Amino acid sequence: MVASKKILVVDDDATVLNEVSEILEDEGFEVIQGSDGQQALAMVRDEAPDLVVMDVEMPVMGGHEACRIIKANEKFGFIPIILVTARDDIHTKVEGLELGADDYLIKPLNRPELVARVKSMLRLKALQDDLIDANQKLKHFNERLQELSMTDALTGICNRLFFQKRIGYEFQRASRYKTSLALLMLDLDHFKQVNDTHGHPFGDHVLIKTAELFEKCVRNVDIVARYGGEELVIALPDTNIAQAKIVAERIRSNMEKTDFIQNDIKMNVTVSIGIAVFPESKVNDFEELLKLADEALYKAKQDGRNCIRVV
Ligand code: GH3
Ligand code: MG
Ligand code: MG
Ligand code: MG
Repeated sequence: MVASKKILVVDDDATVLNEVSEILEDEGFEVIQGSDGQQALAMVRDEAPDLVVMDVEMPVMGGHEACRIIKANEKFGFIPIILVTARDDIHTKVEGLELGADDYLIKPLNRPELVARVKSMLRLKALQDDLIDANQKLKHFNERLQELSMTDALTGICNRLFFQKRIGYEFQRASRYKTSLALLMLDLDHFKQVNDTHGHPFGDHVLIKTAELFEKCVRNVDIVARYGGEELVIALPDTNIAQAKIVAERIRSNMEKTDFIQNDIKMNVTVSIGIAVFPESKVNDFEELLKLADEALYKAKQDGRNCIRVV
């Protein structure tokens, strides 16, 4: 069974209060009651009604003031308010609607009209709630999409596209503020052999663990990305050649000491690293810096792998 809707009825006149409550209870709604605006506010806060039917003229705090406060508080979400007034006076109506009331009813109340207005407002509330729900889902979905467009599916680190955007920004920053920007290009040694010997799933495992290891070796501000198959790249902002060599050596020696283990396979994999640093290398853009880091990597491979070379 669908839970019945909860309606808050507020009126300082006990006769009207009970009359309205009875009509709504007859229609199967759950009714809670208040006799002035302040009570209405407390009940909206504590009871989260689906709808408020409220008298305008009440002691302590009138319906207009209570309506204004409820509508101004985002924490309450969307709660439709039907104001009820004895005076069929256009100014009272306009004032109430400007304060955010959703509908108006004139005393003496007419039963079919009250029921029709209440049902129509509850339909509005249901639509509004669905909309809020859909927006929430869309927000989560967009966040996830954002994440996916930034990250590499296998390793979870940044992908090449995201890296290229970030490095463009970092290069501009380094040029403008005259700071250094180091790039490390890293390629796993004889990785084809790893796959050939132990299979592709083990190769994937090595890539995942390698990405984790690289991230542990650098600062939060550094960007580790998967550049190609078994080629990774790291951008180190505010880092000169001497500091970049220290980071590269830390990565190289950690790889050398690490055994990759999966099921009953255990293997050691080494890495070759090429380094290029701006502005020590006089390049005009990040693409040139990447090219230099790649040339340095090529030298490291030629010089026997498991080593670091700087352009
Ligand atoms: P070198 O030391 O010269 O770099 O030798 P290498 O074998 O690492 O170089 P090569 O470029 O010949 O081979 C790279 C291999 O990396 C081939 C390819 O199958 C493997 N590889 C690329 N991407 C992935 C991946 O996502 N998963 C796995 N398991 N292997 C990959
Ligand atoms: Mg009254
Ligand atoms: Mg390789
Ligand atoms: Mg390669």
